[in-house]
Amino acid sequence: MLIEDQGEGGLFPTGPFSGKSLPTSSPLNRYEAFRDWAKLLLKKEVAPREASGSLLYQGSLFLAETRITFADEMISVPKDFVSLAKSVALFRDSFSFELLYSLLWRIQKERRDLLENVLDQEVVEAKRMEKAVKRDIHKMHAFVRFRRKEDENGDCFIAFHKPDHCIVQAAVPFFVRRFKNMRWSIETPDAVATWDLQSLTFSPGVLSPSVQSDPFEDDWKTYYKAISNPARLKLKMMRKEMPTRYWDTLPETTVFQEILREAEPRLEQMLKQNPPAAQPKGQTLEELKADALCCKACPLHHAATQTVFGEGPESARMVLIGEQAGDEEDLHGKPFLGPAGQVLQRAFDEVGLERKELYITNAVKHFKFEQKGKVRLHKKPDGREMNACKPWLFAELALIQPEVIVCLGATAAQSLLGRAVSIKDEIDEVLQLESGSRLLVTYHPSAVLRATPERAEEIFQSLKESLQRAKSSLASTSLE
Ligand code: URA
Repeated sequence: MLIEDQGEGGLFPTGPFSGKSLPTSSPLNRYEAFRDWAKLLLKKEVAPREASGSLLYQGSLFLAETRITFADEMISVPKDFVSLAKSVALFRDSFSFELLYSLLWRIQKERRDLLENVLDQEVVEAKRMEKAVKRDIHKMHAFVRFRRKEDENGDCFIAFHKPDHCIVQAAVPFFVRRFKNMRWSIETPDAVATWDLQSLTFSPGVLSPSVQSDPFEDDWKTYYKAISNPARLKLKMMRKEMPTRYWDTLPETTVFQEILREAEPRLEQMLKQNPPAAQPKGQTLEELKADALCCKACPLHHAATQTVFGEGPESARMVLIGEQAGDEEDLHGKPFLGPAGQVLQRAFDEVGLERKELYITNAVKHFKFEQKGKVRLHKKPDGREMNACKPWLFAELALIQPEVIVCLGATAAQSLLGRAVSIKDEIDEVLQLESGSRLLVTYHPSAVLRATPERAEEIFQSLKESLQRAKSSLASTSLE
């Protein structure tokens, strides 16, 4: 070892080093150790590749800001090298000294502005190490937490921190400035830094904290809990900024975890109540459909197999809107395929409408059901589910701009008109919408299936008449 165990500090050099190998094992005074080692090598003209493991030096050294004095000699180096070396020497890797020496050698022998060559491999590596060391100093400043302890002289504050690099000496002046009027110690595995209100001293490191908590910690946690909003805790971001290896010594992190654990059911509930709104962005029906496949704007997507989007050509002049996908539609992803779809098809056939020329969709695009054994029983969607789905329906209509819209049943009519609709009362009306489309409301085909045979026939006739009226209104438009 170049810096030998000397004096009381054991690990800590108290004077000029003497030895034969790289002086990198001490966590303190590393820049000075590098400087002394490097000057001796330079003086002896030891090339970088032979530098590792070499050295014999006795003497006193002095560092000027941009000059290194060795005995009577001065080695002039660029200022930016000194600043780089002060950081890189703290990198916890014996290679850091060799790298710095190689740079120093090349600065002396090849080019003085070497550090300006940002493509040079060694320069790049040294800058990376400099950055890592600076980041580590910053983390120590941010993540040291003191705990109060009483000793014979009164209050004193103790912290424990595990830095990645040999930065203790470089990082603690910050704490002296900030906590000048407190007695404190920062324990690290490299060294323990102690401030006694007058001077800063270093003693050998410790592997674990000597104080685990303080009497105020519970009050402090309570305060933290009171001011923290669980919905705003960003754990991912915190983990990035506050690496988890420091969390053991940060009391607030246990608070964050407790807050999140307690808040989880509440957060889940909040998310259920206010899921992200549907955001149709697509410019074509295909694109809209693709957007809607990922829709989670209401809880129905959990149990449904898939989003059942509308079907038909963008050029359709008539749009038919049902209530919501049923069991078969949910399984196959197409509207009106099941029993209600068959009733509708019969009505189309009897009035002479071609399904492939129509656009058929639903007010709610996920199947809502209740599981009864193996059967999925249809459940009527509620207002929140209808509202959550409205952006999709309106986006479909905005793209198609149909001449006639037929609402099959009250749910479709309510979704579109934003008010309760009685089919019986409004079936004969044709409404003119602001968009330019005409709107008819009529019975849902499933009403035919649920009614008594006699009533079913009446409802089917009404449905057909509505479709006929819608068809005629198209015909008259085309004559204009
Ligand atoms: N009922 C509807 O309202 N829509 C369908 O797609 C199927 C049944």
